Amino acid sequence: MKLFKWRIVPRIELEKLRDLSSQETQSPAVRSARFDNPELNAIAKDIVQHRAALQAEIYALQQELDATCSDFAAAQAESAEAEAERKEARIEHMQTDFIAAASHELKTPLAGIEALGDALQMALDDGNLEAAINFVAHIKAETSRMRSLTEELLDLSRFDENPDSDSVSNLRNAIEAALIMPRKTAEAKRLGLRVCIDNSLQGALLAKISPTDLSIILDNLLDNALHYTEAGSIELSLAQGDSKKLWQLEVKDTGAGIASHDQHYVFDRFYRADRSRSRDYGGTGLGLSLVKKAVERWGGTVTLKSELGKGSSFIVELPIA
Ligand code: ADP
Repeated sequence: MKLFKWRIVPRIELEKLRDLSSQETQSPAVRSARFDNPELNAIAKDIVQHRAALQAEIYALQQELDATCSDFAAAQAESAEAEAERKEARIEHMQTDFIAAASHELKTPLAGIEALGDALQMALDDGNLEAAINFVAHIKAETSRMRSLTEELLDLSRFDENPDSDSVSNLRNAIEAALIMPRKTAEAKRLGLRVCIDNSLQGALLAKISPTDLSIILDNLLDNALHYTEAGSIELSLAQGDSKKLWQLEVKDTGAGIASHDQHYVFDRFYRADRSRSRDYGGTGLGLSLVKKAVERWGGTVTLKSELGKGSSFIVELPIA
């Protein structure tokens, strides 16, 4: 904004001007200010007028800024509310999906048990004891599948609670305990079962994880390795990661392997790469999703390397305690 034309002004008059501009614009002293030089008088008048105009402009701008700030705060609150609503809707949607999938999974063995019950009744009516014994065995298998499913569903719901962050587990002991049943199954299936703990690792091997979550990981990985391997061996190994901050636990098998297009999904709930094989052994499609949850809630990771027909390797990294 151009206030006046520049020209050389005597020093004394400049000082008067400075005095004048520092006074209250509306004060009578300013309004009555006079200079010997008429040109300066005009300039002084000009300054006073422009100061008032500028102050009004600053005031208007301030008002505008305040209004913009409160609009912005309101918009921020609105978008946070909308985001919270979206999140709630997403969770609700996921819960509905989960309940639908879980009910579907439970319906299958239930329908099986119902049909087998009818068949058992008919066999008994006919006096066919052999068929009746066969149906009873099937009913037991379906019931045990339902039990695993409900147990795993309960495990899944447990993951909604926060874990005790001070938990520590002894890996050596947990591995020994987890191998009791698999040793028997491996022997029955004539599979090799090896445990390789790095020789340099001495004493208790402590990891930041609760014993329950650690056994969920070990039990599911060993269980799968045994179920999806018909020949060869299973190896469980433990080493320290390069950073010495993580344990690396690997469960490796020489079994069926997982096709590359399935590898991304096997950690999803109820996903089965090989549906018929999984159903044959009473699989629920929940094991690996439980493993992933149990690992990640302690800040660890689980990765899969597999080749169809050659075998699979699941590598779990857990923080060292
Ligand atoms: P399931 O109860 O069906 O075994 P999981 O969640 O444990 O469910 O595994 C998901 C799917 O991943 C399985 O159905 C199977 O197809 C595949 N899978 C898991 N582990 C192995 C393995 N060691 N070898 C081959 N396939 C596997």
